[in-house]
Amino acid sequence: MKIASVRPIPLKIPVSKSYVWSHGIVDFFTNVLIEVKSDEGLIGYGESDIIFGVSQESPETIVQVVHKYITPAILGKDPFNIEEILESMDDKIDGHYSAKSGVEFALWDLKGKYLRQPAYNLLGGKVREKIEVDFTIGIDTPEAMAQTAKKMLDFGYRTFVVKVGRDNELDLERVRKVREAVGPSVKIRVDVNEGYTVEKAIKMIRLFEKYDIQLVEQPVARWDTKGMSKVARAVDTPISADESNSSPQAAYQLIENDAVDILNIKLPYHGGIWNSIKVASVAESAGIPVIVGGMNHYEVGRQANRHFAITTPTAYSGYAHEGPGPASQSLTDNITKDVITYEDVKSDGGFVKPGDGYGLSFVLDESKVRQYAYEV
Ligand SMILES: [Mg+2]
Repeated sequence: MKIASVRPIPLKIPVSKSYVWSHGIVDFFTNVLIEVKSDEGLIGYGESDIIFGVSQESPETIVQVVHKYITPAILGKDPFNIEEILESMDDKIDGHYSAKSGVEFALWDLKGKYLRQPAYNLLGGKVREKIEVDFTIGIDTPEAMAQTAKKMLDFGYRTFVVKVGRDNELDLERVRKVREAVGPSVKIRVDVNEGYTVEKAIKMIRLFEKYDIQLVEQPVARWDTKGMSKVARAVDTPISADESNSSPQAAYQLIENDAVDILNIKLPYHGGIWNSIKVASVAESAGIPVIVGGMNHYEVGRQANRHFAITTPTAYSGYAHEGPGPASQSLTDNITKDVITYEDVKSDGGFVKPGDGYGLSFVLDESKVRQYAYEV
């Protein structure tokens, strides 16, 4: 089998309610669907995910990079040789990991369809039968955030991520109100998304500690490894890296510099599932748990996260995950026929399963793809 074509399809789907976080306001998801076709006519799909304000890529760069660099680098190659294809893409152009991850997801999908196996069976097999998911609460008034937490408790969620770090005088109140709403047995994490200075982070985390915080994520700027390590040493709460964990190399450096207790792995930052397995292995060797973090994925990206999480032993270290969970509740539509929803989380008691379909186990809804495709 050979790769015969690669096609990036940018898709824009609006959200019903703007999502606010430290890096800005989200009104649309704009991920790029990647179609990889084999010479035998078999098709695999992946998704290149971005978040404006964090990602160093945009729909425009992804489309250009796929057309001008990735496609010429991999046309005619055997789609089974993922390691070789990753090397060829890196040789042609450095970085651009989200563009590469969309292609890589499509290769797992294609490979699974060809072998008539779900991708998890090609990735080492399932570690457990299901994955615990968390719910992330965007920045709002403390009262509104507490209300969201209360509502989502009914869907079985037992870990909440409280976003802070923008108009931050109310941050302590946000954490206090959410704790009050969910009671003592539920886990609360605080995600600062780089919103504090080192001094402010230390001061705030000490205050948050009163409310029994499971971890604090990315308290300071992504480039400030020294600052992260200073914060991690000064507080009792475990510190997780997200934006800092921006490449396989960065993951190693964070661990090496004692800047993290937990690594949040986002597949698009590392070029897909295979590189993320390597990052998880580095974490495992250092005794560091991983969280599988989410971006503004459509269901294709969510499924890639599920197949990765369920085959990753360090993802079973007592921390729930966002990436494998349902797409954001405010996303107005999706691109597959089978979508995991909050109701599914509820019936699985706060967990999700990847499904057993071949490849990445989704059925693409081509009419939705036509509906949301746009020119960049
Ligand atoms: Mg985060």
